[in-house]
Amino acid sequence: MTFLVSLQCSRPCGARPYNPDQPHHLCDKCGAPLFARYDLEKLGTIWKKRSLESRQPTLWRYREVLPIHTDQEPVTLGEGMTPLLRTPCLEELLDIRTILVKDESLSPTNSFKSRGLSVAVTKAKYLGAQCLSVPSAGNAANALAAYAARARLEAKVFLPKDAKPPFILECELYGADVTLIEGLITDAGREAAKLGADRGWYDISTLKEPYRVEGKKTLAYEVAEQLDWSWPDWFIYPTGGGTGIIGMWKAFSELESLGWVSGHRRPKMVSVQAEGCAPIVHAFNSGLNHAESWNSATTTADGLRVPNAVGDFLILRAVRESGGLALAVSDEEMITGMRDIGRLEGISASPEGGATLAALRNLRQQGTITKHDSVVLFNTGGALKYLSLLEHNPSESADNNL
Ligand SMILES: *Cc1c(COP(=O)(O)O)cnc(C)c1O
Repeated sequence: MTFLVSLQCSRPCGARPYNPDQPHHLCDKCGAPLFARYDLEKLGTIWKKRSLESRQPTLWRYREVLPIHTDQEPVTLGEGMTPLLRTPCLEELLDIRTILVKDESLSPTNSFKSRGLSVAVTKAKYLGAQCLSVPSAGNAANALAAYAARARLEAKVFLPKDAKPPFILECELYGADVTLIEGLITDAGREAAKLGADRGWYDISTLKEPYRVEGKKTLAYEVAEQLDWSWPDWFIYPTGGGTGIIGMWKAFSELESLGWVSGHRRPKMVSVQAEGCAPIVHAFNSGLNHAESWNSATTTADGLRVPNAVGDFLILRAVRESGGLALAVSDEEMITGMRDIGRLEGISASPEGGATLAALRNLRQQGTITKHDSVVLFNTGGALKYLSLLEHNPSESADNNL
């Protein structure tokens, strides 16, 4: 049995719903991402929060709203249910009542990409795929490589030539076939699609198949459960392809349909990008519904080096409807954020995680976020694959920054 009923275009283009028991990628009619739709009405009457108490602490505890049949085994490495940590030193430093860090550094392969790939590889295997391909700035390739090994499937990963060595070596550790590409993740995507078309590879690029976003949406289910089914005032999320924001926005409405968080206002979503690659920030500030592709994208936060995203309009809609905003921070600010999270709280943060603290600091200074607010920072990955960033940069204290 499954509660997944169909795949639906994320735009009102008039395409008929797609059958989720067959492989589908983008909408055949308009090229937009497809969303998995569940029978939430029925689930709302039979699925109780209480049932979660006896379940394993992985994202599969929410399997009723994941694309899996009840008798099917997920491809899992124990992903999900990561800690949501209070950070008293950061609270004191920034003079904010509540700052929580959702710490994804504890995920398999060290980043939250494991969520999307656990779910997408589970579904791809079910659909009969043999060889999975992905373009990646680094973390998605590591996660695909690990889950493909776990599922006994082949993995072809395409990374930019200048990816940091730990990302490349970790793909090889899990036995993936690695191709290095001149250019960025978008160029890697083009090459992967070109080679894969004749060879029958299952393209697992984010939002170009409907299931990675299902894995990432569980971030919001977990935060809600960890806060006893309430929301904080703000979510601050480092945005590349935006799968996390889009997924969490979808989760908010699913949770409301289930009646599990009724009466609470959704968090305001802050989309953080790098100054050297900020297409969503630019579109947000210009009042546009789509983002223009960013020329010569540069940032040391590999996960944020995404010059254009297929789900751009979905990110912008979520940020606007939530009453949130988009802003860019410099690489230097991110690295300071990464150091502060480490130094003050003992949490291993990637520069993307550091970017969320940099954004919070800016928004507190501007008065957009006040001392009475509650904030969740998404530390989407750990520091270990980025340690080279710390080598030349003497530790600086941020104590006087505010
Ligand atoms: C991929 C990645 C991001 C961006 O995630 P999206 O959901 O695609 O916007 C942020 N941080 C890290 C560490 C990543 O690997």
